[in-house]
Amino acid sequence: MNATAREAVFIGAAHYRRASYGRNHPLSIPRVSLAFDVIKAYGALSDAEFRVSRAASPHELERFHTRDYIQALKRSEAFGHVRHEDRLRHALGTLENPYFPGVFYTPALAAGGSIQAAEEVLAGRHAFSPAGGMHHAAPDQARGFCYFNDVVLAILTLREAGRRVLYLDLDAHHGDGVEAAFWDDPAVLTVSLHMDTAYAYPFRGGTFAQQGGPEALGSSLNVPLPKGTGDADYLAILRHILAAVRERFAPDAIVLQAGTDALHGDPLGRLELSTAGFLAAVQDVIHMGVPVLVTGGGGYHPLLLARAWTGVWALLSGRELPAALPAAAAAALRAVGWDLDQDEPYYENLFCSRLDYPAGDQTSDWLPALFRRLSGHSLLGQKA
Ligand SMILES: [Zn+2]
Repeated sequence: MNATAREAVFIGAAHYRRASYGRNHPLSIPRVSLAFDVIKAYGALSDAEFRVSRAASPHELERFHTRDYIQALKRSEAFGHVRHEDRLRHALGTLENPYFPGVFYTPALAAGGSIQAAEEVLAGRHAFSPAGGMHHAAPDQARGFCYFNDVVLAILTLREAGRRVLYLDLDAHHGDGVEAAFWDDPAVLTVSLHMDTAYAYPFRGGTFAQQGGPEALGSSLNVPLPKGTGDADYLAILRHILAAVRERFAPDAIVLQAGTDALHGDPLGRLELSTAGFLAAVQDVIHMGVPVLVTGGGGYHPLLLARAWTGVWALLSGRELPAALPAAAAAALRAVGWDLDQDEPYYENLFCSRLDYPAGDQTSDWLPALFRRLSGHSLLGQKA
């Protein structure tokens, strides 16, 4: 345990073991349950650290979402399908946001878990809400696989208690729903590192130019990244930002969206972080010295995701875990039957180690130009 160690809690539920989203959806893979199984195989989660997630109440959901939208999800769940007018108005029952059994309850459970996590952070603990991180959801619409924006609801819980919040979004996609929600709140700084929306979802926004907010520091900082961005560039950018955030924004709580789709090998991501690089980013955030609420998020390679989130939990809870996967963890990963990338050179290592090949430490020739763009942001530019 080091100086930044605090108690940490893991928020989960047996419900996540049940398949959802339907068979052909990218989120139909095991995620929270698989990460839980790998963590348990390491013996790295005590009963005292585990909290059973509660579902958010309609009243809590209404702090961000419209009553009509909440009712549409409830109605869809009760009827077993989405009505035509709800599809049109709330973007439900589409390929992107499909109907599935539990289309209201499962997102409400994730939202409740992230609100609980915020309550733990208010008590001075770190908290991990791996079912959360649904950063695209809008007040009246589902977006990008996200139904309820648990992240916004968690940040609102922190704001109501007067906390000054850094939201850092490591997901490969722009955290647009959270950015929009806090655009005008100078006590919430949203920072998102993501695939440039010129080539990736949500195909708009997330550019350098957007600064937002009424205050001099701006409430939003975006870093669009080129395809293939790896550890060295990513960590150089993140450390530059975190140093400025520490000095000039000084948050007293951090919400970290830890989607794993920026990892090399993710089937929907085009960035190339190693698991060790991803975890170095998480470690840097924990070293900021304030309580951290980590949510899940994207991540479409179940094995990469479970390994990475095991590492996240180890960092949060102050454990040092060996890289070698215990036999029970390897068995849980094998049981998924994932074979999309079985011809890749790294595939067998996925079942042996929770870390992958060492990444290069060379930065790219585009990095200086990116730093120049960043210096135009009031948080990172010349001091007044
Ligand atoms: Zn994503």
